[in-house]
Amino acid sequence: KLYNQVQDLKGSIRVYCRVRPFLPGQLSSSTIGCIDDGTITILTPSKNGKEGRRSFNFNKIFSPSATQEEVFSDTQPLIRSVLDGYNVCIFAYGQTGSGKTYTMSGPRNLNEQTQGVNYKALSDLFKLSEQRRGAFYYEISVQMIEIYNEQVRDLLVSDGLNKRLEIRNSSQKGLNVPDANLVPVMSTSDVIELMNIGQKNRAVGATALNDRSSRSHSCLTVHVQGRDMTSGTILRGCMHLVDLAGSERVDKSEATGERLKEAQHINKSLSALGDVISALAQKNSHVPYRNSKLTQLLQDSLGGQAKTLMFVHISPEMDAVGETISTLKFAERVS
Ligand code: ADP
Ligand code: MG
Repeated sequence: KLYNQVQDLKGSIRVYCRVRPFLPGQLSSSTIGCIDDGTITILTPSKNGKEGRRSFNFNKIFSPSATQEEVFSDTQPLIRSVLDGYNVCIFAYGQTGSGKTYTMSGPRNLNEQTQGVNYKALSDLFKLSEQRRGAFYYEISVQMIEIYNEQVRDLLVSDGLNKRLEIRNSSQKGLNVPDANLVPVMSTSDVIELMNIGQKNRAVGATALNDRSSRSHSCLTVHVQGRDMTSGTILRGCMHLVDLAGSERVDKSEATGERLKEAQHINKSLSALGDVISALAQKNSHVPYRNSKLTQLLQDSLGGQAKTLMFVHISPEMDAVGETISTLKFAERVS
């Protein structure tokens, strides 16, 4: 009963935990003690011959064997509500290498089965809007941006990384970044093409030693406009699919220059996100949206009628246990 009350208080913020499987060739002991419904137990290294354990609770936990389909099917209802005019935010949170991009985009060698949430979400929106044809007329368009060092850039134009974009929260059409390219999409092949362009433009900013994708937040925003064919009413829904920058702590004594600056920006924006979500979860009257570009961008899709889902990712290796515990603590705070 108490659990139900807590659930009510949480409003529409859900937190799912996904555990990455060991990768081929990885030899290490596992930190995953047991996964039982909504509880995950993490084993911590032994001290004085005694092994430690810590348990965390979430709305759902996906074990290493969970498929992309299984992960998506639990996300589907949320995605569908975009067609009814709701705003939705889905985040992938976790340290670099924990599987964020795998969940959102899929692995490098993609096939229909391994496609991530981004593609499956759009494909589902097309399918559903087709079923509602006659009753509703839907237009779907997407934007793709990244936030790097607190600067917003367009991933859908080839010179986009050179130009900073402004965030506005009052635009008529519900566009928070009105100057970012807005591309109408009609089919899943349109979507694949755009995602490839976005990936390619993003890679341009990366060097061999500096994988930019782990140090910037990328956000695919899907805008849906539906016209009710009988009443003529227009419904607007929007969905942000966000692959966050790696949450790992950077050793301040080692990082210098550009690397330190990046780390500080990431740290600042992830804690701002945590503060906003936990303020919403606690129904605080003041929600500190203004503290980062990320939370400004997502302002009207976090809180109010909007629905939020955070996938927190963890790696199973004992080496990663420190980051795993801090990831789970972050997630616990926002849920
Ligand atoms: P991140 O985006 O958090 O840095 P990635 O998504 O790139 O992490 O994942 C790191 C590696 O692990 C990649 O090679 C990816 O294909 C693999 N991987 C991640 N999650 C899974 C999974 N659920 N099943 C199989 N391989 C995975
Ligand atoms: Mg990634």
